[in-house]
Amino acid sequence: MNAHDSERIKGMLESLGLGEATAPEEADVVVFNTCTIREKPDTRLAAYLGNAGALKRERPDMVVAVGGCYAEAQRERIFQLYPFVDVAFGPGSIPHLGDWIAAGGFAVGRGRFGTHEHFAADLPMHGERRFQAWVQVSMGCNSACAYCIVPAVRGREQSRRPGEIVAEATRLAESGVREITLLGQNVNSWGRDLLPDLRTEFGELLRACDAVPGVERIRFTSPHPKDFRAPVVAAMRECASVCEHVHLPAQSGSSRILKSMRRTYDRSRYLQLVDTLRDAVPDLALGTDLIVGFPGETDDDFEATLSLVGEVRFDSAFTFIYSPRAGTEAASLPNPVPEAVKHERLESLVELVQRIAAARNAERVGRVEEVLVEGPSRTDAALLRGRTRRNTTVNFAGPAVAGDLVEVLIEESTSTTLRGRVATLVAV
Ligand code: SAM
Ligand code: SF4
Repeated sequence: MNAHDSERIKGMLESLGLGEATAPEEADVVVFNTCTIREKPDTRLAAYLGNAGALKRERPDMVVAVGGCYAEAQRERIFQLYPFVDVAFGPGSIPHLGDWIAAGGFAVGRGRFGTHEHFAADLPMHGERRFQAWVQVSMGCNSACAYCIVPAVRGREQSRRPGEIVAEATRLAESGVREITLLGQNVNSWGRDLLPDLRTEFGELLRACDAVPGVERIRFTSPHPKDFRAPVVAAMRECASVCEHVHLPAQSGSSRILKSMRRTYDRSRYLQLVDTLRDAVPDLALGTDLIVGFPGETDDDFEATLSLVGEVRFDSAFTFIYSPRAGTEAASLPNPVPEAVKHERLESLVELVQRIAAARNAERVGRVEEVLVEGPSRTDAALLRGRTRRNTTVNFAGPAVAGDLVEVLIEESTSTTLRGRVATLVAV
């Protein structure tokens, strides 16, 4: 979502006539788009802002803007903490940024925070990739996961109207985009808050996007396990362009911890859902998010997370050490897990995740996979890079250009990537 917001911020600045500077020292306006999901991004921002403050002392006319979730979380304090910041804006205020910067930032007084009333989706966009695009379908989140700062900084869930979403998908496809990723904090609860005459659900949205000519791949992120209802699963099964990949955050394998996290499902419901999805979509790739060291997590709870990973055999997983966020319910829970234990647990979890991902990828060797070409390989200039429908990066040899869909014979694998060569060109 942050990457998408950054594309909008960039597009908006371009529409004001501001191009990208080659280095921060050259810039008239420096914008930080921040994340505050864990403490680490906050710490990194402090270092970046230190540099920006030093630059600003040399060039007082430079405008420094801080946007995103950190700015929203610190809205009462940010100008005290960093007095040289001219403009601060939360994720719901991106549409105001242009006005504030065009008005001269500091010269007209400090930019203030708006409410979450606007869809940044309606703004101009600077897409980083020509053939793939994000399409925001909702903003905010109505869940109350005990560890999570998102509801506080991104507000209540608001669904975008279906007509607008399909119109954007159509415009993107007409401009050459072949793969769209529908985006929402809780993407599959989309539609519930729409007016009664518009009320619909996420499965219908998948079908409507599938019907857009030129859209050949549809992804979505992140779905919540509690909102994977039958119509969504049926749409995944029946829509040719919906990719065989689901990122399904589990967070923990222990029902006791899931309860304390307020995830509203337990281990067995999660496992049932995995079975339902795998029955409906053959060859489905599954990714997940996992947190270790949530307050009160015992060795047995952690073992349950390891055994969930072993049972599901995820294709990929983002693994996080629990990071207390001020104002969240979990921040005041007793029994914090010692830092050393959190790190040990993370290490053994990562080791297991990688071992299983390597085995899952090794199963692809010898198969032919459809790959959307993204450009040259990052590790070997003689190769191309692309992604399979199951969302695995492939480095491969063969005649193709970015935007092509090619069939690639997989010859080698690691825990995160595949390697191969073009078998045939599918379509240009
Ligand atoms: N909405 C999505 C969901 O429900 O799964 C993801 C939202 S969050 C931006 C992405 C991931 O960050 C979460 O799935 C969770 O694993 C992790 N996360 C959120 N808050 C965290 C915290 N306080 N400490 C560690 N990890 C956290
Ligand atoms: Fe955070 Fe996702 Fe839970 Fe919403 S559903 S509170 S975004 S983890």
